[in-house]
Amino acid sequence: MARLGGDEFAVVQPKAVGQEDARSLAEAILTCFNDPFDIEDRKVMIGASIGIAQAPADGTDLFELSRRADMALYAAKRNAGGYHFFDGELETGLQERRTLKQALRTAFDNGDLTIEYQPIVVLETNSITAFEALLRWHHPTRGNISPSVFVPLAEEMGLIGALGDWVLGEACVTASAWPEGVGLSVNLSPLQLRKPGLAFAVVRTLADCHLSPTRLELEITESALLVPDYAEIALRELHALREAGVHISLDDFGTGYSSLRHLRSFPFTKIKIDMSFVTDIGRNLESTAIVQAVIGLAKELGIKTTAEGIETEAQWRWLVQRGCTEGQGFFFSRSMPKAEVPALLGQRPAGADLRRNGPGGGLARATS
Ligand code: C2E
Ligand code: MG
Ligand code: MG
Repeated sequence: MARLGGDEFAVVQPKAVGQEDARSLAEAILTCFNDPFDIEDRKVMIGASIGIAQAPADGTDLFELSRRADMALYAAKRNAGGYHFFDGELETGLQERRTLKQALRTAFDNGDLTIEYQPIVVLETNSITAFEALLRWHHPTRGNISPSVFVPLAEEMGLIGALGDWVLGEACVTASAWPEGVGLSVNLSPLQLRKPGLAFAVVRTLADCHLSPTRLELEITESALLVPDYAEIALRELHALREAGVHISLDDFGTGYSSLRHLRSFPFTKIKIDMSFVTDIGRNLESTAIVQAVIGLAKELGIKTTAEGIETEAQWRWLVQRGCTEGQGFFFSRSMPKAEVPALLGQRPAGADLRRNGPGGGLARATS
């Protein structure tokens, strides 16, 4: 056994025959991590992930074997720990990701990425209160690629900083042409909160396009607060942003840790209830109970709630009755290019019901 550096170790098992030997060694190693370690009188839980490559099937030299064990390791990490055997698909997956990353870089450099805007409505009146900026990438041969696929790639390749800056700048310029009462919501990658200076940059961007800080909301996920060393930086930046008047919402609540401590560690202005729960309303008792509890909890804390992914009238009715403040979803409208926003806003009086076809009746697209 050898330490390769940092928190990475290599184990060579010379007498392994087939997968079973490797599997039982991996399981034995993982079992050692089931109990907490005593470190300076504190109990510390440590996790481990293991990637396994086997000679001769996966390679016959050290370089090839360790490279493939590494790929298997990342697969294990993606699956939240445990162990993973190398298989050929990992390699094609890796090549595929590499190709996609190059294409993403080119698309970004050529200005081929766009931003669409999805209305967020006040549930009681269905009037538009803001738009969420959502990245779009139309790949020349593969068609539309979801941001949930390419944003993680941008994070891995170190492009997320530049990409995030661009989204914020572009969306703020767009929003500055909207009526005063309409806000803008922008998603932040946890990585954008890992180095000091974000708050400063945001405030400068807002000033540049004469957009009041109170019209901007930044959406972050809990994972931004998870890594101990970085959580402090993130919290400091978030506090600076709040002081400047920017709203901060907790996105995708219900997935991940959903820790009440995170709700307490920062004065979020809004909780966004993840679509997976909204979809389950009325279909799954547990999810329904969780949504109700989150709305109640937020109310007590004086925080607004936005339900994500409302697709049916029944979901909307249920949420209004329970006092959920805002919502977004195909029931109201899909995301649209910026050129379509003024028509949606302009052809109806302020506070008008987005579901009722007023003059212009722009919302035929809402029905999914
Ligand atoms: P999110 O922030 O939770 O955004 C909501 C997602 O739900 C969007 O997916 C939106 O199109 C989708 N959605 C909204 N209503 C409905 C509905 O009624 N039904 C269904 N099926 N879907 C609905 P999208 O645009 O694919 O974005 C996925 C995720 O990618 C976003 O989740 C966000 O985490 C990330 N993302 C998008 N744009 C950006 C960005 O500019 N920066 C960063 N860091 N992440 C972004
Ligand atoms: Mg969001
Ligand atoms: Mg979300």
